[in-house]
Amino acid sequence: MAENKGVMVCGEIIEGKLAPITLEMLGGTRALADTLGEEVSLVLMGSGIGNLASEAIAFGADKVYVVDDPLLADYQTDSYLPVMEKVVRQAAPNILLLGQTAIGRDLAPKLAFRLDTAVAMDCIELSIDPESKLMLGTRPVYGGNARGVYACETRPQMATVRAKAMEPRERDDSGKGEVISIESGLDPSMIRTKIVDKVKEEIVGIKLEDAEVVICGGRGIGSPEAFKDLEALAKLLGGAVGATRPPCDDGWVPSSLQIGLTGKIISPTLYIGVALSGSSQHLAGCTGAKNIIAINKDAEANIFREAQFGVVGDYKKVLPAFAEKLKELLSG
Ligand SMILES: Cc1cc2nc3c(=O)[nH]c(=O)nc-3n(C[C@H](O)[C@H](O)[C@H](O)COP(=O)(O)OP(=O)(O)OC[C@H]3O[C@@H](n4cnc5c(N)ncnc54)[C@H](O)[C@@H]3O)c2cc1C
Repeated sequence: MAENKGVMVCGEIIEGKLAPITLEMLGGTRALADTLGEEVSLVLMGSGIGNLASEAIAFGADKVYVVDDPLLADYQTDSYLPVMEKVVRQAAPNILLLGQTAIGRDLAPKLAFRLDTAVAMDCIELSIDPESKLMLGTRPVYGGNARGVYACETRPQMATVRAKAMEPRERDDSGKGEVISIESGLDPSMIRTKIVDKVKEEIVGIKLEDAEVVICGGRGIGSPEAFKDLEALAKLLGGAVGATRPPCDDGWVPSSLQIGLTGKIISPTLYIGVALSGSSQHLAGCTGAKNIIAINKDAEANIFREAQFGVVGDYKKVLPAFAEKLKELLSG
């Protein structure tokens, strides 16, 4: 590969719009690119997506590589992987970032293998080492109990970035950028899988990953009915309800509400953990929260070690009093 230059972001498109993770990475990579004196580029793959290039420029891309092909209408490893490999080999970026999303988790390791480089998955912070100029990727390790910092000496230096780890930039329609169209080179015979059905996840209210306030219930909540109290509180605060694994395993709430190592990763402004112990597997999904409040009847519960504020007591008594006070404050 020729001299590698630039910070490239692999874009994602949801329902015809740039995905929030893509806007976050475009915003967050600007500081990395400026430190290196390099450009930020974005790769957009899809079908009928030409109009999104100007969006990407307004949100911070200096260059947008557009690969528009009906075979890219839906994400499939067999189509996205060779296209991404082709674009990266052509553009030769110094740094290549993907979201820590279903697509990024699938694509990044396979792409790193094909490009004979390495990838730091699930980074929550990226910076440039002032001496070596290598990218440093910080990621939680040991189920969220420690943080590891990784550098990669091969090119491109790859990482996946966790949602909400970076901030999108303000939209600026006066921004200028270059749009480069690339042929996909795809042939239908290359795609060995067929999408037979798509089932849209039903979301009532705010999406868990996007909520600024999350009320999370644990096993100590005791029943599916009791989760209704959490829903009422979440509604009051304009937030969403989440759960630890046991309430999901027991069918009290859908598994899409599970937060943690094997569930969703959230970074809300406020997280209230109700009747949950604070296992490392659960905390792996919520330590990015800016403020953690815990309600637990056991003063020794691990969640109190993470929480900035805590109430030791039976949630059945604490929660109604908290909700009452909240109503009073919100109405005043
Ligand atoms: C490979 C692996 C992956 C996992 N992934 C996840 C994951 O993604 N997410 C996840 O959450 N877990 C995950 N787990 C499970 C995890 O290890 C814990 O078992 C789980 O997080 C515990 O859930 P909990 O805190 O709700 O329950 P518990 O640990 O049983 O805690 C219940 C808490 O409720 C308190 N309590 C009880 N009654 C009341 C009351 N009336 N008022 C106030 N407090 C009360 C108790 O004091 C206790 O602290 C995983 C485990 C493994 C092995």
